[in-house]
Amino acid sequence: MTTSTLPPNTHHGVGVSPGRAAGPVVWVHDRLPDPLPGPAPTDPAAEAARIRPAAEAVSQRLLARAGTADGAAREVLTMTATMATDPSLLGKAEQAVTEQGLPAPRAVFEAAGEFAELLAATGGYLAERARDVLDVRDRLVAELTATEPPGVPELTGPSVLVARDLAPADTAELDPRLVLALVTEEGGPTSHTAILARSLGIPAVVAARGVLATNAAGARVDGAAGTVELLDRTVEPVAATHDRAEWNGVGTTADGHRVKLLANIGSAADAQAGIAAHAEGSGLFRTEFCFLDAAAEPDIETQRNAYAAVLEPFAGKPVVVRTLDAGADKPLPFLAIGEEPNPALGVRGLRVAFDRPDLLDRQLTAIAAAAAQTGAEVSVMAPMVATAQEATWFAERARAAGLERVGVMVETPAAALTAEALLDEVDFVSIGTNDLAQYTFAADRMTGALATLNNPWQPALLRLIAHLARAGLEKAKPVGICGEAAADPHLAGVLTGLGATSLSMNPKALPTVGATLAKHPLQTWQEAAQAALEARTPTEARQAADHL
Ligand code: PEP
Ligand code: MG
Repeated sequence: MTTSTLPPNTHHGVGVSPGRAAGPVVWVHDRLPDPLPGPAPTDPAAEAARIRPAAEAVSQRLLARAGTADGAAREVLTMTATMATDPSLLGKAEQAVTEQGLPAPRAVFEAAGEFAELLAATGGYLAERARDVLDVRDRLVAELTATEPPGVPELTGPSVLVARDLAPADTAELDPRLVLALVTEEGGPTSHTAILARSLGIPAVVAARGVLATNAAGARVDGAAGTVELLDRTVEPVAATHDRAEWNGVGTTADGHRVKLLANIGSAADAQAGIAAHAEGSGLFRTEFCFLDAAAEPDIETQRNAYAAVLEPFAGKPVVVRTLDAGADKPLPFLAIGEEPNPALGVRGLRVAFDRPDLLDRQLTAIAAAAAQTGAEVSVMAPMVATAQEATWFAERARAAGLERVGVMVETPAAALTAEALLDEVDFVSIGTNDLAQYTFAADRMTGALATLNNPWQPALLRLIAHLARAGLEKAKPVGICGEAAADPHLAGVLTGLGATSLSMNPKALPTVGATLAKHPLQTWQEAAQAALEARTPTEARQAADHL
């Protein structure tokens, strides 16, 4: 479709999860600014008296929601409702009004903040509740200031969610039966919000500039084309339609050159989806997705159980388990990394473990135990490795924990440029094209305005991949791809032509990638790869493969 044939009110973004859907718009509210400590109320007693009715209103609303929910959601909502009227919390807040002269919203903000800190310091189960207290805090402040509470509101029917951006934790909790499509003003094609939307099969468009400035009631979303038509009237819900492809579960080119097609997973549900889609194994298990909400480090037993639940469906199949990769757009509260001027360039991925090797050792112990328990053929790999020395450090610890097959991710240009030295230290490498693009182009993967630089068809990125694949061939060690590039069917063929030995992707992409790869012999993909390497722009590179 050309731009001129698109209806008016169409916003263009980057399509990150394919499928077309339409429905009424539900707006996701930004986090409220912290309430100010002043001016002091003229009548402190009257100000303090506002707190209990507000808490009661919040609690009643949560209980009403609990009444219509089931299972875990019901439990969480009931517990949160109880927390909202906790007498010690409310007493402390009232005291802050009458004794310190704080306005009620600020008093609640501070009292709940202290309460959450206390819980976090306690550790274990109670620490997990700290986040719930902060949720209650935001709801109480919203009630007292007559504003909408932040986050995804309760959905009463199938809806198109429109947000500035969504945290991975919010996205992970979305119910694909109620969320027809996702549109964000910010975010890039490899942001974790996009990755989670894809794994849930929810059509999504990110970097749709200008959507927040509208007041739309309905939307039509095309997650492949990256377009959002916003309407001032509501629209009948139409659930996503996807094009289906057939694939028999063996990754191969038309002439039988084998490339393992694997699933990227982060939960037991993903693992089951991977098996259902005939994945030959998993090339990336993102362990941090198991603990996005944890306020304290999960103990070895908790970690073992969490990993085992994800590995179970892959018994007898290869799975590459990645150690915790937190930082920047994937904060893990329990790691308490602290404020950094440039989080994407800060202490993230494996770097977290350099000062705290015991943290890594406990995770490796838990992974080894889960591997033994489930019979999955587990390898382990480290994220955000920059030097061969770091690779050696990681490999020694992993082998000491009983994990024999060890690899590292290549996500920095430094690692790509020293591919041979890295491969001397480990058994395989896996290219994280999402971060490798971000660091090669110095373009934050979450920034919508830089989406073109993070396009995985960029020739500079392809050249780094070609270098890595050549090094793998020379050292006779596997070089896989586990970034989102692998999920683009034609790019998957080009990556195969460059010499990638496995491609790991969200399970939903497997059938189309498998079917496309099998359409042409290796030589054709090699020729397309060569043309893409020589292209000047991502569009030219794509054209080299699109005519096939
Ligand atoms: C990557 O960076 O390409 C990758 C696979 O890791 P993540 O997306 O989890 O950062
Ligand atoms: Mg990465």
